[in-house]
Amino acid sequence: MDVINPATGERVETYEAETVADVDDALAVASDAFDRWRNCPLREREQLLADAATELRTNDRSYAETITREMGKPISQALEEIEKCAWVCDHYAEHASTYLNPDGHPSPPGAVAKTAYEPLGPQLAVMPWNFPFWQVFRFAAPALTAGNTVLLKHASNVPGCSRAIENVFREAGYPDGTFQTLLITSDLVDEALEDDRVRGVTLTGSGPAGRAVASTAGRQLKRSVLELGGSDPFIVLDDADVEAAAETGASARMLNSGQSCIAAKRFLVHTNVYDEFLERFVDEIKSLTVGDPTDPETDVGPLATDAILEELDAQVTASLEAGARTVTGGEPLESNGAYYPPTVLVDVPDDCPAASEETFGPVAAVFEVDDESEAIRTANETEFGLGASIWTEDRRRGRRLSREIEAGCVFINQLVKSDPRVPFGGIKDSGYGRELSEAGIKEFVNRKTIWVE
Ligand code: NDP
Repeated sequence: MDVINPATGERVETYEAETVADVDDALAVASDAFDRWRNCPLREREQLLADAATELRTNDRSYAETITREMGKPISQALEEIEKCAWVCDHYAEHASTYLNPDGHPSPPGAVAKTAYEPLGPQLAVMPWNFPFWQVFRFAAPALTAGNTVLLKHASNVPGCSRAIENVFREAGYPDGTFQTLLITSDLVDEALEDDRVRGVTLTGSGPAGRAVASTAGRQLKRSVLELGGSDPFIVLDDADVEAAAETGASARMLNSGQSCIAAKRFLVHTNVYDEFLERFVDEIKSLTVGDPTDPETDVGPLATDAILEELDAQVTASLEAGARTVTGGEPLESNGAYYPPTVLVDVPDDCPAASEETFGPVAAVFEVDDESEAIRTANETEFGLGASIWTEDRRRGRRLSREIEAGCVFINQLVKSDPRVPFGGIKDSGYGRELSEAGIKEFVNRKTIWVE
């Protein structure tokens, strides 16, 4: 597995991919470790997670630099990602006991019935490169603390991040085998998932990868959680605080150089505030600093790989050919790295890629809508259903409209974000299951009913 620095196009490291025999060894270790780990008192598992948070904060720069080198995230955002991982560890270190406390039920006279939450066994995590630490920690922190062991198959372009995450758990003092990485290519995932020792799978990534993994999990009758793509609407109504919407909208689209499933991708702006919003939004976008991701002043770095750049370029070119116009950006930058400039498209036809597909890069499509019903109808005209953001000064109107949005979450006067305290996940082609909060830790447990007469 070659690591190519996307800022320079240079190969910085090569890792040897692991084989079927390596997977078999790792599964044996994970299975043995599970027998001990499940009996480790929950208080101790919580303490180890708190120690993982300490390790992340102590060596944050080194971990952040690995992210930046392998997938080009601006260093300031990579440091924020490490802090967010520490936060999710803090969260479950503090709340896991409450979340996993057995629930009582109305019982018949003379009996007591409770639901206990027990771990299932080794879990496979198939993860993407875009938030290479966060996506792993938001699954691993609750799954490990519930008493499962974890095997990570990370994206092939971030093997160093994969090893570094293993190091976090090792340094924190986790017993051997509780968290392991598999440096395997995706063609070995089925083999691992079909093995009886693996008891469930979570995948964050594209639709095709999700469908492939979910099919195998289904055939094996194993639990699966899928967190796939999104084409989130960002609705600006006629009574919105337009200045705040434009400022937050620019961050919502450009964070992580636009490579986020919950990025705002389609801006649906009421005709009464369209001109003002567009002007302010484009000013915000133009003010972003594009460049070297190791520079702390950089807002937008390179895309993670040349393939992502080529796909984005093809989507924008096809949208322009279909009639869309660029207000800013619109062509790859001259560079050895995978740089694409922050881009704003207007007059975007309904069926072109910028309207109907997920664009995984710094490209915003802005649409003018006549009223709130057109905004809601357009918002829902997508195969995805991850998140949505609605901007209105009338919170009751925002709450009412939130019920009409087909998505896993709606944020009113805020960008869509994942937060350890609230459930996260999608509907439709954005996947199923929930991560984070109490919902996340209960995805990979056996909800065991215990009836005592
Ligand atoms: P993929 O979905 O291909 O990769 C995500 C993970 O799934 C990687 O670990 C990958 O391994 C693995 N994988 C891929 N195909 C299979 C398969 N058939 N069976 C098992 N595992 C598989 O994402 P890409 O990196 O190719 O990105 C493509 C697009 O996916 C993006 O442009 C974006 O639209 C979407 N995406 C969405 C993300 C999100 O956060 N929801 C994150 C990343 C991508 P390997 O790297 O070895 O192929």
